[in-house]
Amino acid sequence: MLESKQMTRAVLAWLGLGSNLGDREANLRFACERLARTPGIAVEAVSTFRETAPVGGPPQGAFLNGAVRIATTLSPPALLAVQKAIEREAGRRADGPHHGPRELDIDLLLYGDATIDTRELVVPHPRLRERSFALDPLRELGVDPGTIPRRESPRVIRDPAEFAAHCDALRRGGCRLGLVPTMGALHEGHASLMRRARADCDRVAATIFVNPLQFAPHEDLARYPRPFAADLALCAREGVALVFAPSVEAMYGKDFISRIAVGREAVGMEGAVRPDHFSGVATVVTILWSLARPDFGYFGQKDAQQLAVLRRVHQDLRLCGAIVGCPIVREADGLAMSSRNVYLQPEDRRAAVVIVAALREARARFLAGERDAERLVAAARERLAGEPRCRAVDYVELRAPDDLAPLPKGPIGPARLLIAARFGDPATRLLDNARVDVDEVLAP
Ligand code: AMP
Repeated sequence: MLESKQMTRAVLAWLGLGSNLGDREANLRFACERLARTPGIAVEAVSTFRETAPVGGPPQGAFLNGAVRIATTLSPPALLAVQKAIEREAGRRADGPHHGPRELDIDLLLYGDATIDTRELVVPHPRLRERSFALDPLRELGVDPGTIPRRESPRVIRDPAEFAAHCDALRRGGCRLGLVPTMGALHEGHASLMRRARADCDRVAATIFVNPLQFAPHEDLARYPRPFAADLALCAREGVALVFAPSVEAMYGKDFISRIAVGREAVGMEGAVRPDHFSGVATVVTILWSLARPDFGYFGQKDAQQLAVLRRVHQDLRLCGAIVGCPIVREADGLAMSSRNVYLQPEDRRAAVVIVAALREARARFLAGERDAERLVAAARERLAGEPRCRAVDYVELRAPDDLAPLPKGPIGPARLLIAARFGDPATRLLDNARVDVDEVLAP
């Protein structure tokens, strides 16, 4: 009686199987047989096995992947315990390298139409939709990808202590947490950071905070765009679990006084034009970092000097995890994406692409053999000067590619050219940069 009652409550679940160590096919077969022998599990269908290239982790051999459909009376945690036991029996070591080669991987991809988000288990599997090695066998077993339950919109948190507690929860069970700090008005540049974070980490937290400490009194703090609903939709699309969007009062209590002092990396360029800017950036990022304690934090190369400053702060203050710099995302005509591009009138927007032309000019000359820094800078400046809508050039500088240290005298080697120029009225400052010594993609 009990038996039949349990069977009526059986849930259909789909498990992904993978192996790239030992006799791969035998390992997958062993998994199927062993599942079939487990009380509370009936194996209903097994997909074909297919060879796939490894995704992420250290260099390793190709996988053999498949999937099984089971009817089970086991709860998700009980099923997970069975999966782990079978992986161990197949020879998989618990202390093997993270995402390294393995005899057997059993993932709970789908459990009925449940969405599960606990410290041990996230179902549907967080990256299921992007992973053809998991999706293709599921299709073969009759799963329509359109019916896979969607994960919920990100949770929005306004309170710093609550943000810290939720990040703790996201990190539990060995999950890697990625942090993407932003000021909102999100575009594909921000989305690229989130995608990179999703690829590296199990969970992603984004922050949306227009940080007053990094604006000077005459700057655009009040008019900075704040399209929160659209920002949230973008975060949802990119699989962000948590969005921290505090008020200024919640971030900085009324007696807030402390600042992170910044040094060499903040001297010159943006630091010269915006004297307190980097101290304000460093302060907010340090606060966000200590609340979230991420495994990785993602920043755009678009703001190269900011990245250099933050790398230094991260190292000096011995913050946890690591900083990841991400490539610049550009519009179709090459202009670097920026939340401030919306300030530009159409003619100024069109004219602004001269910044990219100036970067390309310097790079072309470097690649043609020019090694004199002054002449390369002059060539870029000349390009900018040829555009009447460019109202002012704040700087054009050649620096070391990553830490942006000033270049030694004499013929230059690898270098990055950084430009800030103003367009429109009131003027909008646009920043861009590119290596001059490598053929980075700078659109046509
Ligand atoms: P913001 O919201 O402007 O403070 O930018 C948040 C993060 O997104 C920073 O790390 C920026 O460098 C990065 N970012 C902004 N624009 C781009 C872009 N076009 N490509 C890549 N990253 C970007």
